[in-house]
Amino acid sequence: MLVGLVLALSGLILWQTAYWVRQFATADMRERKAHTLNLVIENLHGALAKFQYQPSLLAKRATFRNALDYYATTTLIDAASRELEKINFLSGALDMFIMNGAGIVIASSNWATEQSYRGQNFGKAPYFRAALQGRLGRHFAVDDASEPHAIGYFFAYPVRRDGTIVGAIVIKLHIERLAARWLAPDHETLVVDQDGIIFMSSRADWRFRSLKKLPPNAQKRIRQSKKYGDRSLASLPVSWNDARDQVTFHGEKDTTSLLLQKDILSAGWRVLILARLDDIDQRQTIALAVASFMLVSLILLAAFAHQRRLRLRERMLLQAAAQSVLESDVAERTRDLTEANAHLRQEISDRRRAETELKKTQDELVQATKMAALGQMSAGLSHELNQPLAAIRSYSDNARAFLERANLDPVRTNLASISELTDRMARIIRNLRVYARNEPMDIRPTSVGRALDEALALLAERLKSSGTSIHKDMPDDDIMVDGGEVRLQQIFVNVISNAIDAMKEAPEKRLEISVEDHDEHITVLIHDTGPGLPHTKMNDIFDPFFSTKEVGEGMGLGLSISYGIIKQFGGSIVARNHADGGAEFCVTLKRSLGNRKAAE
Ligand code: ADP
Repeated sequence: MLVGLVLALSGLILWQTAYWVRQFATADMRERKAHTLNLVIENLHGALAKFQYQPSLLAKRATFRNALDYYATTTLIDAASRELEKINFLSGALDMFIMNGAGIVIASSNWATEQSYRGQNFGKAPYFRAALQGRLGRHFAVDDASEPHAIGYFFAYPVRRDGTIVGAIVIKLHIERLAARWLAPDHETLVVDQDGIIFMSSRADWRFRSLKKLPPNAQKRIRQSKKYGDRSLASLPVSWNDARDQVTFHGEKDTTSLLLQKDILSAGWRVLILARLDDIDQRQTIALAVASFMLVSLILLAAFAHQRRLRLRERMLLQAAAQSVLESDVAERTRDLTEANAHLRQEISDRRRAETELKKTQDELVQATKMAALGQMSAGLSHELNQPLAAIRSYSDNARAFLERANLDPVRTNLASISELTDRMARIIRNLRVYARNEPMDIRPTSVGRALDEALALLAERLKSSGTSIHKDMPDDDIMVDGGEVRLQQIFVNVISNAIDAMKEAPEKRLEISVEDHDEHITVLIHDTGPGLPHTKMNDIFDPFFSTKEVGEGMGLGLSISYGIIKQFGGSIVARNHADGGAEFCVTLKRSLGNRKAAE
């Protein structure tokens, strides 16, 4: 549809271009050729006007009048001829001659030449007849005597003597030469007579041809007049388009010319200019080529712009689509992320809550296990306290008896013993208090040796009653580690009491405790002579509520709590079976920095 429209529009533009270029070029050419036509007419007018009045002037001259006297002498006639020759030479005419009333030439400017007209009879010539009638006779005819058959133009005027026409004076011109001036590359100039016969032409082969086919009577008349001798006067092979002022010549190739014409009324002629339209055709072709080129360029440019706009729009659409996909992706991702974030936040708060709860429970558990351990220890402890109490009682009884006997020395000894015993009791009680205390969870430098000693002191009764021997291998220096007094003590109480439990049935009950100093960290190894750890459960023992003990004896929390506490200290606890039998617990603790600095 668009292509059709563009093609139709292009066609219209080209057609209009062709039309207007032709119109302008034709108008231009018409104007130029009209000017040329005027020049040609002026030229012809000028050439004729120059001679038009000469015969009438010459007719009044006495020499010529006298020569026509009936009795004129040869001398007079010769004088006339000589004068004619002189005037002819000066005026530039071809010939001048005088005819008597019978039409016989009596004196002539060419009297001395071979072609002299003297004695010839031109009585039938139309110009002579006109002159005899008292008018200015004018006529033209082919001058067959001349080469190449020039057109002779005659002006004749009556010569009067005493008011009577006695003869005529005639001037003959060759106007043919004028035609040579009209040669032009782009047009032909023709002069035709009333019958439309070309007698002057810038194209020699058109001479003596008629513009249009002559009717037979006209042909006859012209032939009789002898104006053109006995030439056939065939018509030119042309067709006329009067409406458009155009003439088409039919030859090998048809050529069309623009026709301009104007009459010369005084001579009864018509001048035609036939301007070839090739030039216009050429201009039209060039204009069409330029217009086509511009049109094609414009169409290509428009197509290119259109294509570009399409591509741009396509790209923009693609971009917009990609953008919207991206945006929706981002929105979706953002939504997911927001959800995940909210979820995570929820999880974090849940975790925190769980952690606080766990910590609380852990603390409670720690406390509970401590209490449980205390419960377990209570029998031993009461025994431990009862023994010194009983001893104190007997020492005080003894002291009182010795006091009554005024034996003071033993009193002093007894009192000293009592004092010693209360010291021991106070120590036991202080240990218990410390153990039962709910210690804050922070980490501080703690003595490994003291924690071990206090744990052993708390378990002293159980160790003794079970008959367990203790072998300690410890460095001399007190080593400080990252920890907490009560918690470290609790770890050792747990591990050692497990060992006591394990060795219940063992024939030899021996507990080896060694402390190794590895500079950065400290390892406490506790090795018993019990049955060792069950191989399949090696990793389970640190799990909460894992216990192989009878119901009511173990809760399965001791090692898991110890594990958690050691992790808090930044240390570790592992259990393995010793090569010599029995279980070995290895507690690794970080040496306290403050302590190390102090040591350095
Ligand atoms: P409980 O002592 O209440 O059972 P623990 O967490 O302290 O809980 O101990 C878990 C289990 O580890 C014990 O039941 C026992 O089976 C095993 N265990 C701990 N220490 C030893 C050891 N020295 N020798 C053999 N087994 C042990």
